[in-house]
Amino acid sequence: MPHIELIHVSKRWGNFVAVDDLNMVIDDRSFVILLGPSGCGKTTTLRMIAGLETPTQGKITIDGVTVFDAETGINLSAAKRDIGFLFQNYALWPHMTVFQNISFGLENLKWSKQAIKERVAEMLKVLKITQFADRYPSELSGGQQQRVAIARTLAPKPKVLFMDEPLSNLDAKLRSEMRTELKRLHADTNSTFVYVTHDQLEAMTLATQVCLMKDGLLQQYDPPLTVYGRPNNLFVADFVGNPTMNFIDSLAEQLPDGSIRLKCLGLQARFIPNSPCSLTSSRTILGIRPEYLTISDTGKIDATVYSALPSGMETTVKIRLHEQLLSSVVFGAKDFPVDHPIKCSIDGDAICLFDADSTACVAMGRIEMLG
Ligand code: ATP
Repeated sequence: MPHIELIHVSKRWGNFVAVDDLNMVIDDRSFVILLGPSGCGKTTTLRMIAGLETPTQGKITIDGVTVFDAETGINLSAAKRDIGFLFQNYALWPHMTVFQNISFGLENLKWSKQAIKERVAEMLKVLKITQFADRYPSELSGGQQQRVAIARTLAPKPKVLFMDEPLSNLDAKLRSEMRTELKRLHADTNSTFVYVTHDQLEAMTLATQVCLMKDGLLQQYDPPLTVYGRPNNLFVADFVGNPTMNFIDSLAEQLPDGSIRLKCLGLQARFIPNSPCSLTSSRTILGIRPEYLTISDTGKIDATVYSALPSGMETTVKIRLHEQLLSSVVFGAKDFPVDHPIKCSIDGDAICLFDADSTACVAMGRIEMLG
């Protein structure tokens, strides 16, 4: 099965470590998104796999073929790695029609005239741009130009398609449309996509696997809903999700039955882990996604509304609890007056408990309020 493997891959410039000992397997036909804040090493990682940047250490294989190995000196050029690129700047040839832009690369690869005609027609259809075949790039919108660039990249049937922030030049509406198209395209073409973005929503909605990095170090490599629901550490929990997860400092004491007594925000609670865990520190941080902090008349926690932001489909309510502001998401068109007293509860069994020192997520579980 063709897949990409990165084994102990690092990139250093002088003493600066841009990518630190990265191990990762990119499965055939997956849609892997390299995600993380600016400067975390996403583009460097993509460029090393693509053959545009030479790693300092490690080994990379594509489809079982070693394309880079620091020990043996193997380093296949990008042209020999059977890959396609799509970057922020689509770089279409302005003097060529859409048809010519797509066929140009195939001519260079010495495809027959008939094969080129058929392949370009197929690509025009998949990208829904058949009607623009005879237009020049300047006669197309940004989104249409982008689809031409994708068609051109996919036409030679690369094993892997690399994309570096390909939607960042588009307006919000077009970006959202193109996300749908990209996801559909991935399903229709059976290609492997490796994609760089710093937009967590883009990663969550498109990826089959998210590779979240920080300071050159891999933080988590999992399907998006696992990254969201079972974050490895505080950084991951905070980076993914909007509104962000609520973090509450808490003092923890593990009881003989395995449950954990928590003191936080002047309240006492019991945390019941979903699976056995052992706390190494009493300094913990409780992590609650906004959808699990529920406003309801039966809630046992007294709070007040700090502000409410209704957006129609849902309302984000900022709740004031013991001088800390927490976010709750209420579904439906509801509004809440400022300083309004409310009751809330912490629901579900996807509450995270982090070790405040190591920042690792040490347990997932549910909360019972005491007293
Ligand atoms: P962004 O989202 O801002 O594009 P990124 O996560 O893609 O960021 P990279 O472009 O991979 O980040 O860069 C990782 C780090 O390596 C950055 O701190 C950057 O300044 C550094 N870096 C990149 N290229 C070089 C270079 N040629 N020489 C020295 N340092 C570099």
